Amino acid sequence: MTSLVWLRDDLRLADNPALRAAVDRDEPVAVLYVLDEESPGIRPLGGAARWWLHHSLTELAARLAERGGSLVLRRGPASQVVPAVADEIGADAVFWNRRYGGPEREIDTSLKARLREEGREVGSFAASLLFEPWTIRTGSGTPYAVFTPFWRACQEQPPPRAPLPEPRTIEGAEAPGDDLADWELLPTRPDWAGGLREAWEPGERAARQRLRTFLADDLGDYDRARDEPAAGATSLLSPRLRWGEISPYTVWHDTVEAAGTGAHAASAHRFLSELGWREFAWHTLFHFPDLATRNWRSAFDAFPWPRLKPSHLRAWQRGETGVPLVDAGMRELWATGYMHNRVRMVVASYLTKNLAIHWQRGEEWFWDTLVDADGANNPFNWQWVAGSGADASPYFRIFNPERQAEKFDPQGLYIAQWAPDSAEREPLVDLAASRREALDAYEHVKRAR
Ligand code: FAD
Repeated sequence: MTSLVWLRDDLRLADNPALRAAVDRDEPVAVLYVLDEESPGIRPLGGAARWWLHHSLTELAARLAERGGSLVLRRGPASQVVPAVADEIGADAVFWNRRYGGPEREIDTSLKARLREEGREVGSFAASLLFEPWTIRTGSGTPYAVFTPFWRACQEQPPPRAPLPEPRTIEGAEAPGDDLADWELLPTRPDWAGGLREAWEPGERAARQRLRTFLADDLGDYDRARDEPAAGATSLLSPRLRWGEISPYTVWHDTVEAAGTGAHAASAHRFLSELGWREFAWHTLFHFPDLATRNWRSAFDAFPWPRLKPSHLRAWQRGETGVPLVDAGMRELWATGYMHNRVRMVVASYLTKNLAIHWQRGEEWFWDTLVDADGANNPFNWQWVAGSGADASPYFRIFNPERQAEKFDPQGLYIAQWAPDSAEREPLVDLAASRREALDAYEHVKRAR
């Protein structure tokens, strides 16, 4: 008898309940990853995400091999590939960790039914979120629309379970698979990934090391310095959480342990609440699967977006707006596949309010260029900044990028690193005038409420 583990956004051996369940059966295990670019509704990965995936899969395959297992790579619609592989290896059990996007859930639900009909055991587990979306509801049974009561309700639940140990040995089951290189996930002509290679080391081992370093060296300063892009005070765990190279349970427990009740308690509390925002974004997507394409607040459907000016969008994408903090952020993103959270908020506000470009255009650019591009966090945060989302920043609070730079980059270190020439450019638009136009346009939304 053989088990099949289907890995998705959980590219890790530690705290992986699906893998654990298979290994605990003491039978051969095949570990499968499916590159599914064909199933309806599945959003194709962006360029930076494909780069990350290639390296993360390479490392995962090596770690599995060290323990006696192997990684089977297949491409195609998961609804066909998974049953085919289960047949080929004679799997009597199939395990996976749950996904929470709409199309993904549809695929998983129908696969579960089909595999069971075929007489196989199927097990699905909670591994990517600390709280299952259907367990956190308001008193009247609706999903939360505001973060603070949402996070309070989460904390009233039993605390997240302890992480599971990683299997020491895996008895691998053989199955034919693709060569990773044939998937062509890495850019070649041109190879724009030099900055990504310098900035990141994908994979589970590096993810664990990053958490350890952050907790040992930076946690104490997190509460004070997390908003300063030049401070290097945040965890940089977002791509690792996105790909599941580290589990939120591990992050949670290690943080609680590192903080104890001592001097770092306030910082730890703050850091854990950021994980709470991740939960909130995913729960919101679970209840509103069209988050990337529809306004969460339908009143925003009345917003009179002007006709797109492609030259403005391009200037924003390239970091050529003449607004130093915006340009610095956009160039950091292009060079490294990452941007600091405070700066993400500023560039998103500038795009949607000063340039009057629909938040979806910004979300799409981030989707293509971020190594942490995440099906919930990205659209959720874009809608948050644009004012159309859950618990959103009020529309009329329009970030002033110059004030933001004075406050959060007071010595100009971040701007000097990424866009030293920006101040010499002529600004693309006048900040004060475009702000007024944005507020005028917002009147339409107010009337539609
Ligand atoms: P830390 O401050 O160390 O936070 C720890 C973890 O908490 C992060 O790794 C992340 O998983 C989570 N987190 C922190 N802030 C948020 C937040 N606002 N919403 C949801 N989760 C959060 N984050 C992504 O992971 N993927 C995205 O595609 C993404 N797109 C964004 C788009 C916009 C317009 C904005 C304003 C924010 C976006 N974020 C996104 C949220 C946030 O900017 C990043 O999670 C954060 O900058 C990652 O850096 P870090 O790991 O050092 O964060």
